[in-house]
Amino acid sequence: MQPDGQDQDLLSLYQSIILDHGKSPRNTGRVERHDCSSEGRNPLCGDRVTVTAALDESDILTDLKFDAKGCAISIASASMMTEAAKGLTTDEVQRISDAVRILCIEKFSGEDINGFLGETLSARLESLRALSGVRQFPTRAKCALLPWQTLMACIQGNSTASTER
Ligand code: ZN
Repeated sequence: MQPDGQDQDLLSLYQSIILDHGKSPRNTGRVERHDCSSEGRNPLCGDRVTVTAALDESDILTDLKFDAKGCAISIASASMMTEAAKGLTTDEVQRISDAVRILCIEKFSGEDINGFLGETLSARLESLRALSGVRQFPTRAKCALLPWQTLMACIQGNSTASTER
C-alpha cells in the first residue's frame, strides 16, 4: 500500500528528526557525579550504549548522559531519550519507556498512547514518535529500544542490559 500524502509528510518529518539526532546527538558523555551506570548491548546489530544518570532524593532524574557506538537508530534513540527523560521521576521514566516499547513494537494508535500516558507525559513523547517508523523492521526496533532498556537497568541498579535475554 502506498502511503498517502499526509503519511508521507509524517514519515519524512520522522526521518529528519532521527537524522538530526543521529548526526548531532545531545547529552553525550558521562555524568560525572552519577548515581547509576549501566552498559547495554544489542548483539544483533552490535550497538553498545552506556548510560549514566543522577537522581535526587525524590527519585527525579536530574541528569542523564550516554556514550554509544552503534547504528544511527540506536544513537538517535539514545539522544532523544536523554531529552525526554531528564527531569522526570523514575516512575514516569518507566511509563515513557513502556510507551516507547509500544510505539516501536505494537500496533497502538497515538490516541491510545496519550490515554496511557496522560497529558504531561504525552508531550514528552512527541519527538519519540519518530521512532515508530522502526515498527516495520523488528531488528531495528531492538536498536531503538536498547537505550531505554539500558536506562531502566541503570535506574533499577543493574550494571548491564541486553536486547537478547
Ligand atoms: Zn542498531
